[in-house]
Amino acid sequence: MNTFLSYKELTNSIKQKKISFKEYYETLQQKIISNDKEINSFITVNEKVLDQASEADIRIANGTNRLLEGMPLAVKDNIAVYDMKLTCGSKMLENFTPPYQATVIDRLQNAGIIFTGKTNMDEFAMGSTTETSHFGVTKNPVNHNFVPGGSSGGSAAAVAAGFSPAALGSDTGGSVRQPASFCGIVGYKPTYGLLSRYGLTAFGSSLDQIGTLSLNCEDAALLTASMLGLDSKDSTSSSIVPENFYNFQSITIKGKKFGIIAETMSEHTDPQVKSIINAKIKEIEKHGGIAEVVSIPELEYGVSIYYIIAPAEASSNLSRFDGIRYGLQNNTDKNIDVKTLVTKTRTEGFGSEVKRRIITGNFVLSSGYYDAYYKKAQKARILLSDKFKSLFNTYDFLITPTSPVLPFKLGENIDDPLKLYTADLCTIPVNLSGLPAISIPAGVSKEGLPVGMQIIAPSFKDGKLLGIGEYILREVK
Ligand code: GLN
Repeated sequence: MNTFLSYKELTNSIKQKKISFKEYYETLQQKIISNDKEINSFITVNEKVLDQASEADIRIANGTNRLLEGMPLAVKDNIAVYDMKLTCGSKMLENFTPPYQATVIDRLQNAGIIFTGKTNMDEFAMGSTTETSHFGVTKNPVNHNFVPGGSSGGSAAAVAAGFSPAALGSDTGGSVRQPASFCGIVGYKPTYGLLSRYGLTAFGSSLDQIGTLSLNCEDAALLTASMLGLDSKDSTSSSIVPENFYNFQSITIKGKKFGIIAETMSEHTDPQVKSIINAKIKEIEKHGGIAEVVSIPELEYGVSIYYIIAPAEASSNLSRFDGIRYGLQNNTDKNIDVKTLVTKTRTEGFGSEVKRRIITGNFVLSSGYYDAYYKKAQKARILLSDKFKSLFNTYDFLITPTSPVLPFKLGENIDDPLKLYTADLCTIPVNLSGLPAISIPAGVSKEGLPVGMQIIAPSFKDGKLLGIGEYILREVK
């Protein structure tokens, strides 16, 4: 059975009685058992999935009309689901089962979703390769010698391997879009505030946003439509509902203005990436889109701004993992003092990338350096956001490659954090500005490695963004 079915295709097959949910989930389960030892996309699988599938079959027989009845979804392991471990890819939370559940999970459950399991990720979502997980590396299903990207690499790999038609990820600086690009699927980061962050383990709270990985933009829209909206448990959640949310039929590309950000197509960008993106832009023009090169000189500072603000917020957010409130407590000495206990917990529980971020964060927030780094970064962040805002007076969308480089070989860059940080050039400014963006497959390199194109839209124009994404996927070949 083909497991690369979109939600619409799966729903149709079920309604036409070509398959039952029970049969479908048995196939998914078999596929995971046979192939995921090698790919390692899941940390936890839902053992009750077949029972839940049978229940969905009964509800379908009884004429349920829930939007996502019986649809499978894998969930990144930093989003809380009742009765499933929440590890964040860390030794620190190896045995933690949350007594709470994320708001987006509550809402998806009400729409009929079945959660297939929790996916592997870079520890506490810090990374771009899914190699910093305590639970081992995840491999790219397209080519097992390459990383799937990160930090939502497990979610991207699960979709690209046909284990699930869609997955949730989290995106602080590109962690949904970049793995989608590396694995050849669609990754969508909503406008900041569109989805509640309650139940998502915080990394950089002013940047974090839950997003989707899927086979097309329509599924991203279906999922998001079921998750969005104000949540009293998250004061940054918004009540704005984007127009045209999944009214895709009415969208065309004719006359739409696209700004191509020059700084992301420079001599530092891989030539193959550039030529694939340029070819796609030509096609967009053939279909009536208007493309012009634009410049954002402030983009040069994006990576520096992010790698000050994100670690600053992370150092504060991660202080709760002290072995008392949360986290591993490997201690047998009853007379241990608090300081030694906290030190022991954090030394043993966190991996080296997480420690690097905490140290950086504490440094930029310390008195004496606060003004020079943190305060300056906040000011520069506003300049960058203003630049995006002013470009959207002229352009409907902005385009960049999702990643300026091709997927890395496993192990290639894990000891070179600076190289990994600079590869986040295209995705980071979007989080700093709170904007919505998608990565859609644009082509493959000579070696057969996927290349994604990023499309960025103004705040809360998420419906328009997913619509244009779907149009390009279907029509602009
Ligand atoms: N690669 C970026 C980082 O390591 C982005 C991570 C993310 O979006 N969670 O911080």
